[in-house]
Amino acid sequence: MDLIPSFQVDHTDLKPGIYVSRTDLQGNVKIITFDLRMTSPNREPAINIAAMHTLEHLIATYLRNREGFKDTMIYFGPMGCLTGSYLIVSEGKDDNRYTPETLKDIVIDALKFVEDYEGEVPGTTPQTCGNYLMHDLPMAKYEAARYRKRLEENFVSEYPKAARPVSGDGVVFHDA
Ligand SMILES: [Zn+2]
Repeated sequence: MDLIPSFQVDHTDLKPGIYVSRTDLQGNVKIITFDLRMTSPNREPAINIAAMHTLEHLIATYLRNREGFKDTMIYFGPMGCLTGSYLIVSEGKDDNRYTPETLKDIVIDALKFVEDYEGEVPGTTPQTCGNYLMHDLPMAKYEAARYRKRLEENFVSEYPKAARPVSGDGVVFHDA
């Protein structure tokens, strides 16, 4: 089996930032998966699962309501490793609307929305959420503020590359 592209990134040197995880062409539509990396993997504690759940509810709510953006948004949700989230958007094959740089202000606005949020987290009833008690708004605000400051003060958008796997007989494997 091929190693999927996101596993080829050197996670021991990955910094919080916004990265292009992958780009897929489907006909005339480009689907871009952005890696919103919120913590340094394997060097800092991952985001606690309840805070990540709250970040998912609030950021998805914000992005799906943002005029000029919502129509191009496909998906937002957390990574299983709890060190970041994926944001998937679409644009025309020849458009260059979405890059880490052009997404930065949108993500910062979403994080400010979390930081300023008061009241009941949207969609936290037994009818609307699969684990409605597993939420932590204060920690979600803490993580949102920390990630926002990192984006504002030290914006990173270039992945560190992992060393290419080498087989026993010295053959170096390259990306397909
Ligand atoms: Zn939920």
